[in-house]
Amino acid sequence: MEKILNYINGQWLESTAAEFVDVINPATQELMGRTPLSPVSELEAAAQAAAAAFPEWRRTPAAERVQYLFKLKFLLEEHFEELSRLITMECGKTLDEARGEMRRAIENVEITCSMPILMQGYNNEDVARGIDEMMIRQPLGVGAAICPFNFPGMIVFWFLPYAIACGNTYIVKPSERVPLTMQRIFQLIEQTGLPKGVVNLVNGAKAAVDGILDNPAIKAVSFVGSSTIAKYVYSRAAANGKRAQCQGGAKNPIVIMPDADMEMTTKIVADSAFGCAGQRCAAASLAITVAEARDPFTEMMCDAAASRTTGYGLDAGIQMGPVITPMSRGRIEELIGTGIAEGASAPVDGRGPKVAGYEQGNFVRPTILVGVQPGSQVARTEIFGPVLGLMHANTLDEAIQMVNANNYGNMACIFTASGAAARRFRTEAEVGDVGINVGIAAPMAYYPFSGYKDSFFGDMHGQGWDAVEFFTHKKVVIERWPKEWSRKF
Ligand code: NAD
Repeated sequence: MEKILNYINGQWLESTAAEFVDVINPATQELMGRTPLSPVSELEAAAQAAAAAFPEWRRTPAAERVQYLFKLKFLLEEHFEELSRLITMECGKTLDEARGEMRRAIENVEITCSMPILMQGYNNEDVARGIDEMMIRQPLGVGAAICPFNFPGMIVFWFLPYAIACGNTYIVKPSERVPLTMQRIFQLIEQTGLPKGVVNLVNGAKAAVDGILDNPAIKAVSFVGSSTIAKYVYSRAAANGKRAQCQGGAKNPIVIMPDADMEMTTKIVADSAFGCAGQRCAAASLAITVAEARDPFTEMMCDAAASRTTGYGLDAGIQMGPVITPMSRGRIEELIGTGIAEGASAPVDGRGPKVAGYEQGNFVRPTILVGVQPGSQVARTEIFGPVLGLMHANTLDEAIQMVNANNYGNMACIFTASGAAARRFRTEAEVGDVGINVGIAAPMAYYPFSGYKDSFFGDMHGQGWDAVEFFTHKKVVIERWPKEWSRKF
């Protein structure tokens, strides 16, 4: 069992926490570590260290700052397999899914290596005679990330490399349920030789989060997690004068038109709904069939769900792992029951499976709920498990109305061979990420990870240009240099 430590001011420190959360492999139930719920004093020590490191770090030229990120990229590549295995072990997803996660993490580091050009401002000579004007970007100070459990290695990279490449210093608060991947990543960050205090790691839960939200030295907060907490973090950070970007939950609908290629569609929708055991903010959660798409899609989707192999993500041939905790499994199974009580049928019902060799694992197999009604509880609630609800619409208009009735606005997809239908959908769907014949519209590192409504609180997103914008102030300078002065030289 590994000891979980905080990393503050370049030192690995044992927390003085009185409370701990067990980190348990969700397939094998092996106890992997115990996360200290660090008291606020430890968060304050990290904030102090980050604030002390800021003046020197912001003066370090951007071209020099990114040299640490180049080193980090190569260290992450070198330890790619080890990190991916660790993700599978503490979080449950399959090894291939974990590799995909680490690939996107590295992509973000690669983008930030070009920060000297990304954070360039602009200027005009002679906006009036002898007067020049320019916009320069400057770092904010100390930033902090608060992370969820479902991507233990990737999500921090939507923020941290941008923050430090722009000249900020940083604090990370990982999910208390999956702290080990982040601890390993920080060990690699340490090997890059970053000056002490530039990045800090504080484990914990609510006390550490509230410590971040109330600390005057912290100027920017990036949060990813459930909508209730996202809203809370956003409000409290904003009330304390901080810049905040808070990504919340999702309930992603996928529309299937009658002209869709059904074989390709069902395969992609199955990967979207059941990949990472449905624990992705971009997972398909509702499939809305239009007109005569209903029968072929329902039949093929049920086959795809029933044939998916479930087991320990490190074993060969496994397509889906367990969910994070027994509590989460209980909640998912209860919501399947709610769906049935509300009138849906479950031709594929994944409740209560036993997986040979992993009898104690938190497994729920893929589940299909047919006949989910608009407005019902299962149509509105984020299940965050391998459950796909099927709804039906007579026309594309009706389907778009169902998509837009959703409180969430993370992602929506359409499967169709019609350019006109796709274009209408792209224009009218009230979501931040749209997929056209794509099941997980998760943006590449050079695009913002968008989201509307209850899926996002703030305005600048993580990744790409948005992240540069988020982690910098814009300063406009106007200079006058009278002509007669230059004649003196
Ligand atoms: P969560 O909201 O329970 O926890 C997220 C973070 O908030 C953790 O670090 C946790 O310690 C902290 N936290 C929890 N309760 C708190 C409280 N009362 N006060 C202060 N801090 C608190 O989320 P989770 O279960 O770890 O992650 C799953 C959720 O994250 C899902 O809703 C999923 O859709 C969402 N998610 C969204 C995105 C996105 O990009 N929109 C990406 C990944 C996950």
